[in-house]
Amino acid sequence: MKKIINSVELAEQQMIDGMVKAHPLKLAKLPNELVVLRKEKKQGKVALVSGGGSGHEPAHAGYVGYGMLDAAVAGAVFTSPSAEPVYQAIKTVDAGRGVLMIIKNYTGDVLNFTLAGEQAAEEDGIKVAKVIVNDDVAVENSTWTSGRRGVAGTVFVHKIAGALAETGAALEEVQAVAQKVADHVRTMGMAIRPCTVPAAGIPGFELAEDEAEIGIGIHGEPGVHKEKLKTADEIADQLLAHILSDLDFKDSEVAVMINGCGGTPLMELYLVNNHVSDVLAEKGISVFRTFVGNYMTSLDMEGFSITLLRLDEEMKTLLDAPADTPALQVAGHVSIANRKEEILRKDCSTDEVVKNIKADSSGSDTIRTKENGPDQRNGNGIDQTQLLAILKNIIEKMECEKQYLTELDNVIGDGDHGINMARGFHAVLERLGDYQTMCMGEILQDVGKTLMKTVGGSSGPLYGSAFKKAGSLLGGKEEIRTADLSQMLEAGIGQIQKLGKAKEGEKTMLDAMFPALRSLKESQKKESGNMKAALVNAVQAAEAGRDHTKDIAATKGRASYLGERSIGHIDPGAASFALMLSAAVEGIAQ
Ligand code: ADP
Ligand code: MG
Repeated sequence: MKKIINSVELAEQQMIDGMVKAHPLKLAKLPNELVVLRKEKKQGKVALVSGGGSGHEPAHAGYVGYGMLDAAVAGAVFTSPSAEPVYQAIKTVDAGRGVLMIIKNYTGDVLNFTLAGEQAAEEDGIKVAKVIVNDDVAVENSTWTSGRRGVAGTVFVHKIAGALAETGAALEEVQAVAQKVADHVRTMGMAIRPCTVPAAGIPGFELAEDEAEIGIGIHGEPGVHKEKLKTADEIADQLLAHILSDLDFKDSEVAVMINGCGGTPLMELYLVNNHVSDVLAEKGISVFRTFVGNYMTSLDMEGFSITLLRLDEEMKTLLDAPADTPALQVAGHVSIANRKEEILRKDCSTDEVVKNIKADSSGSDTIRTKENGPDQRNGNGIDQTQLLAILKNIIEKMECEKQYLTELDNVIGDGDHGINMARGFHAVLERLGDYQTMCMGEILQDVGKTLMKTVGGSSGPLYGSAFKKAGSLLGGKEEIRTADLSQMLEAGIGQIQKLGKAKEGEKTMLDAMFPALRSLKESQKKESGNMKAALVNAVQAAEAGRDHTKDIAATKGRASYLGERSIGHIDPGAASFALMLSAAVEGIAQ
């Protein structure tokens, strides 16, 4: 055995000390234990503890820091730490909100972490939850496990659960998102050269020069079978085939990790990624983020693993949230910049769409005839013709303000609200022809259904069901008066609350809607108030409500992940509602 160590006995201890000395601003250590801690204990958040045997560096101490773990507990090489240091770690990091243990599925780790968690709960009253990661699809059981092994996919659990914990979410929520990642992540690996555990002094298995071991774990154990070494592309195909047959990745968005086992040149890892990303593209699986490097190693083993995580919107946001640890840094603003590029690319059609809307409006002078115009009734009601004019104005407004809404959503959400709304109302544009022969109740219901089908995100079902409800309430009426409008808005709000469970003051679209509703009701009381004046007042109320969302923290929707950090920013949904209402007034004014 040839190793750069001082002594087999001191290897783990000196490695941990060296890591803490390399990151003095980020890391600290528990005296006399192989426990690495975040330098600054953060109050008011759920603490995350992980760990396992040494030899997987940078896992797990390398993931201690902002946005990921609060403590990592190390054992001897490839050997679970005992319960005592895990218990000490739990006690040290608990900040009153509870502790989530992220455990790779190995019998020793599961036993020791579980015992430690029970002790902390019984003796210290600490709320402890756990998530067991078992992402390896190569084997169902191994000498080390009952059930599948936990391997590189664990890093995604650290990242995503850590990002949610950082927002101040409750233990149950952090545990749930960690479990969701564990449920949707799959990994498989291979090696062309075994590793040597210092204490053993000899390689864990033997391989001839032209042989590969397929389906390896991360403890130097042999894989599922030996075979003749193939090309990188053929091996990647083989691993991917197992992964893709284990979970349905069809039409999904994924995070990809090409993980080196410790002794593999980056050149080879990138070369593997070249093929993996082509194959995924061919299969219609879209890659959201790619990670290439040594994330979960097996000492000096030469090999790699492929991990795919099937993402949803929540996981995407949390994966992109800032993290600052020795081994993984995600700069939130960088990813937002990337998003902006994506958005700008998608936005290139804007001018053309607006032109089409304008051309369509100017050609249809039957829609705004003098006889049917608002002047004929002193502006006291909206008829079908005016409703169509209003809809056109909203369509145009959503297209023109796409970038603005998207920028708002970029800061506290995921940067898609403008795109979502523009897409939805573009679909409404296509329906305008049919609307000419429909009554207003039917039109609004159809707008609702169209938005539900096309907007997506949270705002799609919320706005969609509100329009649908408003339409069904209106029924066959031929005129909408202020009283109808306030009833429709109230019913729409009711529907949004039924679905989204939010109240006023939680920084959502409702914070613009409620003030508008109160204003409409006020106008309704004044006999003299005509429709247009009522709407103008309602717009002002909605805009004031929208601006007020700047002063409050989000507790619903995607922005709630940011907690207090959402203060200072306008809610995109509140902004889109205010825009919609002002477009309605302009529609009447025309
Ligand atoms: P997503 O958040 O899924 O990306 P959008 O970006 O299209 O969807 O819409 C975000 C807006 O949806 C938020 O700004 C907020 O106004 C609104 N929203 C989100 N959740 C809720 C909820 N539970 N109740 C009411 N409105 C909500
Ligand atoms: Mg969004």
